Amino acid sequence: GKILVNDQFISREEGSIDIEDRGYQFGDGVYEVIRVYGGKMFTGKEHLTRLFESSKKILLELPFTQEELTAKLQELMEMNKLHTGTIYLQVTRGAAPRQHQFPGQSKPVLTAYTKEVGRPEEGMNKGMTATVADDVRWLRCDIKSLNLLGNLLAKQEAMANGSFEAILHRDGTVTEGSSSNVFIIKDNQLHTHPATNLILNGITRRVILQLCNEIGLTYKEEAFSVEELYAADEVFMASTTAEIMPLVQVRDVPVGDGKPGEWTKKLQVAFKGAIQQQCGE
Ligand code: PMP
Repeated sequence: GKILVNDQFISREEGSIDIEDRGYQFGDGVYEVIRVYGGKMFTGKEHLTRLFESSKKILLELPFTQEELTAKLQELMEMNKLHTGTIYLQVTRGAAPRQHQFPGQSKPVLTAYTKEVGRPEEGMNKGMTATVADDVRWLRCDIKSLNLLGNLLAKQEAMANGSFEAILHRDGTVTEGSSSNVFIIKDNQLHTHPATNLILNGITRRVILQLCNEIGLTYKEEAFSVEELYAADEVFMASTTAEIMPLVQVRDVPVGDGKPGEWTKKLQVAFKGAIQQQCGE
């Protein structure tokens, strides 16, 4: 398979990154993960729009347009005959002598590659488990930045406890997952943290809120507490790769009857419909 480095398609072995690339040294860059179903990007436009927004928030000017990038990614997908999988792409501020302040001159470095990844059917059907962890991240979680140590430490803690995801909270208020948004359903109403600086406004999250209207589930973009999390009828997480993933146990407490909830399952069906509509798969 080929990878994309700036505007060149090359083999992975041919690729190289400068040791003073600011992405490598500082995590000074932004990224996206886009789902591909049946050879077509799902919500590709939304992801690339968010990439440009994230770039703007870190004062990184991208040397290409959204249309140009879309065309390149399209080409990469076709070259690699990607059917169902993901496109990972990132842009760093490029290489410059190491100093914290932005270099006067540096050329942003774009890298992208594709990977075949099936839909996580098993987890979506039986549900997964989650732990709860302190959200120790910075206050600009709305930026899809390469700096992920806070997320990594939380995910690692979850995995060490045999859990799939870490649900993060700030002083008892649930924000999001280590790599997902988190939703609860209580008394036939869905709750999720509002799209503030404390969470990444997930593209999957946005699709879900639209689907709520479709299936007649009312929702509130209002923060909820860890106590409300434990008392929820249904809990699920959502992300590009995990889609709508029921969480059937939080720490050692079963959610509802310990099985994926009815509204969660309805949302999964509606989500599959949205994929079919956009990607024909
Ligand atoms: N929050 C965080 C911290 C994430 O890493 C992700 C996944 N990248 C999400 C939310 C979900 O975002 P999306 O639906 O756009 O993948």
